[in-house]
Amino acid sequence: MNSLIPFNKPYIAGKELHYIAQAVTLGNISGDGEFARRSASIMEERFKIHKVLLTPSCTAALELSAMLVDIQPGDEVIMPSYTFVSTANAFARMGAKPVFVDIRPDTLNLDDRLIEQAITEKTKAIVPVHYAGVACEMELISTIAEKYNLKVIEDAAQGVNSLYHDQYLGSIGELGCYSFHETKNFICGEGGAICLNSEELVDRAHILRDKGTNRQAFFQGLVDKYTWCDIGSSFVLSEINCAFLYAQLEMFDQITQRRQQIFDTYYQSLLPLEQNQQLRLPCIPEDCTSNHHMFYILLPNKTVRDGLMNHLKQKQITAVFHFVPLHTSPMGEKWGYKLGDLPISEQAGDCLLRLPFYYEITADEQKRVISEIQDYLSHSVSQIDRAIPLAFPATEL
Ligand SMILES: *Cc1c(COP(=O)(O)O)cnc(C)c1O
Repeated sequence: MNSLIPFNKPYIAGKELHYIAQAVTLGNISGDGEFARRSASIMEERFKIHKVLLTPSCTAALELSAMLVDIQPGDEVIMPSYTFVSTANAFARMGAKPVFVDIRPDTLNLDDRLIEQAITEKTKAIVPVHYAGVACEMELISTIAEKYNLKVIEDAAQGVNSLYHDQYLGSIGELGCYSFHETKNFICGEGGAICLNSEELVDRAHILRDKGTNRQAFFQGLVDKYTWCDIGSSFVLSEINCAFLYAQLEMFDQITQRRQQIFDTYYQSLLPLEQNQQLRLPCIPEDCTSNHHMFYILLPNKTVRDGLMNHLKQKQITAVFHFVPLHTSPMGEKWGYKLGDLPISEQAGDCLLRLPFYYEITADEQKRVISEIQDYLSHSVSQIDRAIPLAFPATEL
């Protein structure tokens, strides 16, 4: 019997426990200590971000963003439906309406051609989500945002260390949000960061993430006592997590190189199946440098996708689908959305399968995944299903 190939396996870079011990010895294990400072400055320097603040999750960073841009009840926020729930929830909890726009068939990112028609008097912000670590068309999105005076908040949960042209994701919009959840490229259990791309946002961000107090200014000796001065919450990441994260961030290049190898192996091995129209591979436009967050394939339809997923499961290989489009959720229905509204998002929900992808996956394990996919698609897919044209053209738009 073959051993189980999991979908994800958190990678321990090496010095995590060492740095946690140091944090404990230093005596400060709440937030904004030595390891928060070190982790933030690695990112600020590498990604050229004005200010990075560590948060307990990307969800928290998105919520903090919604507070920082002063989202009010009745505001509208443009975003993809094919995303994680936090993208929408962060704004909905402030009373805003998520306005879902369909995705591009090539990158599965927000379709920039559909944004302008979704803008109304009430539109306040656009939230591009960089799916699989591949950048959205930020040039177009920034131009539209400028024209209509909208804020851009990047959901770069999956895009840490990816680039659009020569700009790192998270550094392009007003605000950017990162995740260090154990399923992402660089991890600390649960964790995240907010990227503040202008100085004006910094003071208020400190206040909002520290329970609405000016404690940060107090610690810096700028005020002689600290007090309640805004409506905030508790969005500071513990030093224990920051110490763990620092060990990962030190290994940026090594982790990224390994992920690229895994991605390339899948890509090259599955390319004949794409050329044979049996599946479609991820598309990375020329102006994007991916962090290789994941490897997905697009199957002709849901029957083939689910059939392949079950086949792999029987062979002890864990492959998983991804987002159920938010406009089809019970919350989406409350805003009047229904099945059929966003066809590409729905097809991605039905046809996409993510393959096992983690630092320590072995060459043999990858071979097993690849040969089971080849086997299934060549022998078990009915003529009818094979004849259905792919929903997603392989060529770039
Ligand atoms: C993972 C993810 C999040 C949430 O990240 P957490 O750190 O778990 O809160 C948000 N948006 C996207 C697109 C994600 O993939």
